[in-house]
Amino acid sequence: MSFDVIVRRGMVMDGSGGPRFRADVGIADGRITEIGRIKERAAEEIDADELFVAPGFIDGHTHLDAQMHWDPLGTNSCWHGVTTALMGNCGFTLAPCRAEEADLVLRSLEQAEEISREAMLEGIDWQWESFPEYLDVLDRLPKGINYATHVGHSSLRTYVMGERAFEQAATDDDLSAMTDQLDLALRAGAFGFSTSRSTSHSTADGHPVASRLATWGEVRRLVDVMTSLGTGIFQLDHEKHEPGEGRVEYNARLRELVVESGRPTFFMMTIAPAEPQLWRERLAFVDAAALDGGRIHPQVNVHEHFSTESFRSVLPFDHLPRWSEIRRLPFNEQRLRLLDSSIRAELVEEAAQLSARPDGPTVPANQRPLNYEEIVVFETATAPYRSVADIARGRRTSPVETMIDLALESDFDQLFGRKLLNFDLDSLCEVLRHPRSVIGVSDTGAHVTRVVDSSYTTRFLADWVRTREVFDWEQGIRMLTSIPAHRYGFTDRGYIREGLAADMVILDPATVGPQLPTVSHSFPTGALSLDQKATGIAATIVNGRVHIRDGEATGASAGRLLRGPLADR
Ligand SMILES: [Zn+2]
Repeated sequence: MSFDVIVRRGMVMDGSGGPRFRADVGIADGRITEIGRIKERAAEEIDADELFVAPGFIDGHTHLDAQMHWDPLGTNSCWHGVTTALMGNCGFTLAPCRAEEADLVLRSLEQAEEISREAMLEGIDWQWESFPEYLDVLDRLPKGINYATHVGHSSLRTYVMGERAFEQAATDDDLSAMTDQLDLALRAGAFGFSTSRSTSHSTADGHPVASRLATWGEVRRLVDVMTSLGTGIFQLDHEKHEPGEGRVEYNARLRELVVESGRPTFFMMTIAPAEPQLWRERLAFVDAAALDGGRIHPQVNVHEHFSTESFRSVLPFDHLPRWSEIRRLPFNEQRLRLLDSSIRAELVEEAAQLSARPDGPTVPANQRPLNYEEIVVFETATAPYRSVADIARGRRTSPVETMIDLALESDFDQLFGRKLLNFDLDSLCEVLRHPRSVIGVSDTGAHVTRVVDSSYTTRFLADWVRTREVFDWEQGIRMLTSIPAHRYGFTDRGYIREGLAADMVILDPATVGPQLPTVSHSFPTGALSLDQKATGIAATIVNGRVHIRDGEATGASAGRLLRGPLADR
């Protein structure tokens, strides 16, 4: 037998959660073909003597729909061992959509997912209308990692209803046109259907995104398309209801949907400061639904959810009048102003307003007054972190002045992390341990100026496996690989097994973790984004080709568009 790549003498964590074993892993034609002692030599060999060999990580909640058109690597996911990304979440996809009506989908992505409109207009060559045509375009794009996609409800709606989608309930004709389009998309290989009913999702002109105009009956009809075809997963962003009758009624509707549709259902779960115990209710809900025949899973992030901010990118003060005057200037000019004591005093005073009221148009669902105990200074890439308030006390100055001083001392590079969600790590730990949870809500591709959660994989291994020892390595790797593969339906991946696709990560358990993010302007039109690489990832293999080696891309682009089971391949 001949091999394209052999990974030598690594400690294999096969993704099942079973115990580790030392072996060579041989790869030919994109597949794992032998595990054991391999005598032959391959053109490319990786010495994994001190390293762990794991299946590639699978990220089930991304918004790479736009970025994949201009970024062949799959950043930042590719730096963190991710070999498969599921996109099209929260109801947003670029298809179906006519090129001349692109604005109908861009206005939602621009606001709800904070993706630069200019970057999308410049970076996307719109060569499709229907979903099957779109998938064919994705097939041809160079891809460092694998992608799969949902069909977004907002896009289905705007394709069928045009502007009415932002204003009205669907007519019977609208609805049957939508079900036809969804059926076509699933038959062509869409993995599922996604929708948002969340008040945090609006368009650039301040309307609810189109899916929020749908009746529950419309959602049911669309999910039923998947039931009829016997395939597809459903992802939704919850309706928000205060505790009480409204929530009871919503839960009853949702439970009926998941039980009667039989389709695996996913929702993003966070621990929000406004209702810190809601997660208990949600976990009880998924357990009860399961006993009734409903498969519903929370998708969970693995750490405090930060908005990562800096003078070189965005700050919570940017929209304030005095601050915005200064922040528009080149950095050498900003420096002069920030050193001027009277200007500083004005800035400090203006920023103080934000401590008492919500801080402008960021993530609307999470708006809270600024609290400098909850803004940390990223001196290192992983916890523990010191807060701005803490450092200010040490320096005997105000928190805002501390942020200004730290910025000046670092030539404006200092990053700050404003905690938005998941403050309580003990609660988060219980959610992570819950057997129906699936970890990973990176949102990769969205909110790129201030969220860098593509690193949840390396962060999870560094924080929860190596440092806190809440999970052993076998279990930790399983949570990043076979659990998401199984839940989302990637039947060909998620394990190191002979015959499966050769998606693999070779990592150093002593050092694997995220690096500090950096501010970048590598998006089309120079739009701002944050980059973040990892430590301790020796290599990432996608479909049998080495994509990342020692932190650098090799230039291979062996990633594929993964199609659902109904597609003719
Ligand atoms: Zn999302």
